[in-house]
Amino acid sequence: MRPDVVIIGAGIAGLSSAVWLAEAGLKVSVFEASDVPGGRARSWVDPVMADSVDIGPHILINKYANMCALLERLGTADQVLWQTEELLVVFDRGRSIRFKVGGLPAPLHYLRNLPRILPSVPLRHLLSNTRLAWNTLRSSAPELMRLDDRSGREHLERCGVSDFFIDWFWASAAIAMLAVPVERCSAASLMRLLGQALGHNDIAFGMPKVGLSDLYAWPAIDFIRRHGGDVQFGCAVDGLLRGQGRITGVRLNDGAEVEAPAVVLAVQPTAIAALLPETHALAQTARRFQPSPYISCYLWFDRPITTTRFWARPWCPERFNTDFYNLSNIRPATRSAALIASNIIWSQRVEHLSDAAIIEATRREIAEFAPQAQRAVLLSASVHRIPMAIAAAFPGTETARPRTAVEPGLWLAGDWVDSGLPYCMESATRSGALAAEAVLAACGVHRALALPPPKPGGLGRWLRSGGPGEDF
Ligand SMILES: Cc1cc2nc3c(=O)[nH]c(=O)nc-3n(C[C@H](O)[C@H](O)[C@H](O)COP(=O)(O)OP(=O)(O)OC[C@H]3O[C@@H](n4cnc5c(N)ncnc54)[C@H](O)[C@@H]3O)c2cc1C
Repeated sequence: MRPDVVIIGAGIAGLSSAVWLAEAGLKVSVFEASDVPGGRARSWVDPVMADSVDIGPHILINKYANMCALLERLGTADQVLWQTEELLVVFDRGRSIRFKVGGLPAPLHYLRNLPRILPSVPLRHLLSNTRLAWNTLRSSAPELMRLDDRSGREHLERCGVSDFFIDWFWASAAIAMLAVPVERCSAASLMRLLGQALGHNDIAFGMPKVGLSDLYAWPAIDFIRRHGGDVQFGCAVDGLLRGQGRITGVRLNDGAEVEAPAVVLAVQPTAIAALLPETHALAQTARRFQPSPYISCYLWFDRPITTTRFWARPWCPERFNTDFYNLSNIRPATRSAALIASNIIWSQRVEHLSDAAIIEATRREIAEFAPQAQRAVLLSASVHRIPMAIAAAFPGTETARPRTAVEPGLWLAGDWVDSGLPYCMESATRSGALAAEAVLAACGVHRALALPPPKPGGLGRWLRSGGPGEDF
């Protein structure tokens, strides 16, 4: 049967789009090149330890409105453990700094953390951020996007932030949120994050209580199939069909052609070149989005080593991991006494090392926070080398992010689409909803599906140049 819509790629973006379109009554066909769904946010059962592991640990934020709405629709929203008692534990030079949010209106809510931060950061370095915070609070979204021509470090220095504070805080924020060192990230991407952080006093991180594929990918596939759609694996699309000035379908890797009036391209930017001619505007844009690689490690110990669920370390290029997750305390189904997952971000610097060397360094870093890890028996370990976790947010890329509509018959989805959000699962989910809205509109059905990026509130709302009503 000829589908109404073909979706290329079964990552979050493609599945989000397919769920909305199937629910709206369109006949959807999803083609996925890999043998499993989920793309860069997938999980599997570890063959040795039989625990569910993700490609690498992922966290959600309670501001992920589109992703939370998708999970609600799929019936898995209760499978996220929200860390509400504290935002984050940062392990810095032998000290655990426990960051809390809430209390005063944003951005004053950060003041309650002062007693915990001051032993690590002298007050004058904290105060060196005053002009930066003032400027950012007053900026609208288009004003922040104008900073895309410079690096984060350049902008921070221009605003008078001290080198000490850049190295202590901003270098870590750029790596953790944008996967790029602060000297190489876009100031626009970084300042948009600051605008959000200064505008919300109720941010919380959430950790999936089940593997990512069970959180959303398989439930989405069930949903699509129940609504008359179809998802095929090991089925790469290797070209688009064209006729009468529009895209009319796709060609599969076995040569079969599938005609459809609408095609949603939901692949990562590095996969675009295989599908479009070199001269196509989208193919040229996609070349600007270079991968930021990760290495994720999973270490199983024979005994509990800490009760903390999640801790992070300030970024230092000579060290390996930045964020650690104690899955035994997060996932009820984890059988081992301690399963610790971690991420090495911007991992090209350690890519040449063997798995054994990476495991040894990771164990050492875990033991610095949880000394029990040195005494415990390491039962098993796995190292996942991931060529692209997200696209690197280099200067110039924020304003180059493509829009949903590509050409007649063809729409784009994916975390790198211009969604108003950093490259993340929420961006992928929102882009899928935007593509579904556009496909439905082309069929004459007007429906608002995508929820807007969170609007910073608090005191900053009154300072922005456009006044309180201005969209961020
Ligand atoms: C280790 C790691 C940690 C991360 N941490 C976080 C986090 O903490 N929080 C967060 O929000 N985000 C995180 N991310 C980012 C998040 O995973 C991505 O932003 C998101 O998964 C991107 O989804 P997508 O659908 O846009 O792309 P993808 O997941 O890349 O999906 C694209 C799909 O298209 C398929 N495909 C490609 N070419 C073809 C073709 N020709 N035919 C058919 N199919 C094709 C691919 O196989 C893939 O399944 C992390 C990513 C990694 C890897």
